[in-house]
Amino acid sequence: MTDYVPPPVDRRLPTEEARDLMALVRELAEREIRPAAAEEEEAGRFPRALFTLLSESGLLSLPYADEFGGGGQPYEVYLQVLEELAAARLTVGLGVSVHTLACHALAGYGTKEQRAEYLPAMLGGGLLGAYCLSEPAAGSDAASLTTRATRSGDTWTLEGTKAWITHGGVADFYTVLARTGGNGAHGITAFLVPGDAEGLRPAKPERKMGMKGSPTAQLHFDGVRVPDSRRIGDEGQGFSIALSALDSGRLGIAACAIGVAQAALDEALAYTAGRRQFGRPIVDFQGLRFMLADMATQVEAGRSLYLAAARLRDAGAPFSKEAAMAKLFCTDAAMRVTTDAVQLLGGYGYTVDFPVERFMREAKVLQIVEGTNQIQRMVIARHLAGPESH
Ligand SMILES: Cc1cc2nc3c(=O)[nH]c(=O)nc-3n(C[C@H](O)[C@H](O)[C@H](O)COP(=O)(O)OP(=O)(O)OC[C@H]3O[C@@H](n4cnc5c(N)ncnc54)[C@H](O)[C@@H]3O)c2cc1C
Repeated sequence: MTDYVPPPVDRRLPTEEARDLMALVRELAEREIRPAAAEEEEAGRFPRALFTLLSESGLLSLPYADEFGGGGQPYEVYLQVLEELAAARLTVGLGVSVHTLACHALAGYGTKEQRAEYLPAMLGGGLLGAYCLSEPAAGSDAASLTTRATRSGDTWTLEGTKAWITHGGVADFYTVLARTGGNGAHGITAFLVPGDAEGLRPAKPERKMGMKGSPTAQLHFDGVRVPDSRRIGDEGQGFSIALSALDSGRLGIAACAIGVAQAALDEALAYTAGRRQFGRPIVDFQGLRFMLADMATQVEAGRSLYLAAARLRDAGAPFSKEAAMAKLFCTDAAMRVTTDAVQLLGGYGYTVDFPVERFMREAKVLQIVEGTNQIQRMVIARHLAGPESH
């Protein structure tokens, strides 16, 4: 592991406030996140205290309106913050993105009373959220989910199992999609479930290839009772709420992917400048220079693509297709760039003494979460050619 601190990315930020924010984030990342990342990931330790610090620093609320404690930042700025956090440690960047996703339903579809009651603590009160859509038998086909919510008077009772939940077992609140009506997308409703609800039982976290510090677990709902005041949106509106959250969430994944790719590129540049073979630094060899040039081009292209989608969102324009393109391109770019970084470090790249093997393992999951890259292609193709005919 080198103690090399990469130079700041040259960012075009829209305001003085955003420039100050980015300086704060970089300082926090270099002081509190990057130095411990390798060791903590290897040990599989979730940095819960760090998320409390991020909450207190206003970094768990950036894209939400300031009325209920949000940071009031455009997506263009929020995503670049995520990129910086993910470059320091993906568990942190992705964790902030998932928390933001978990707040989306209530912030966008909750009543004024619900927002006033719950949002301030969710956005800046030290709480951490999770988003529960996937199930053991409902992944890409999320509309086939079977977790059931049954109403009796003013109380709903939830039964079923959610799978792959980031922050499962450590979150303070869960945004849960459950079936309240018939089959298909129209029978689904969203609920805000407290982390300490009776009958909510997290399973042992999954043993993963990477991002070992980020707990991913099944959640069993054994008769979890939720008052109707915690139902978000209308009955049957849940799936469209979930999809709208995912459009924004996918931009978060794209930004995290570029953070990991940038970190891998920075390591590769530092290493190839210092390593000598055949009497000169290996960065002199054109074969490697061309690889570095391709890697940097992938990173810049990905950053431009997610920022273009973010600016559409900030302008109130449709951005679903562009978010899917950004997620697809940026995560594939991260996979390529991190794999090439391992190659550029030779045998050392394959050891845990350097972070590039971890970056490569981390990049892989980004091609899977929040809709696999096959699903992103389906979304893009539907925008281009309309729905499939069968
Ligand atoms: C570390 C991690 C964290 C996660 N965090 C969360 C979370 O916080 N909340 C949450 O709700 N979920 C979460 N997920 C779940 C994630 O979103 C799903 O894994 C993903 O949507 C894919 O579902 P699946 O794993 O069931 O794969 P499947 O849907 O079974 O897919 C298997 C393969 O088939 C392909 N495939 C499926 N259907 C099609 C099709 N129609 N056309 C072409 N190819 C297809 C897929 O692309 C994939 O390659 C997480 C997953 C991981 C690994």
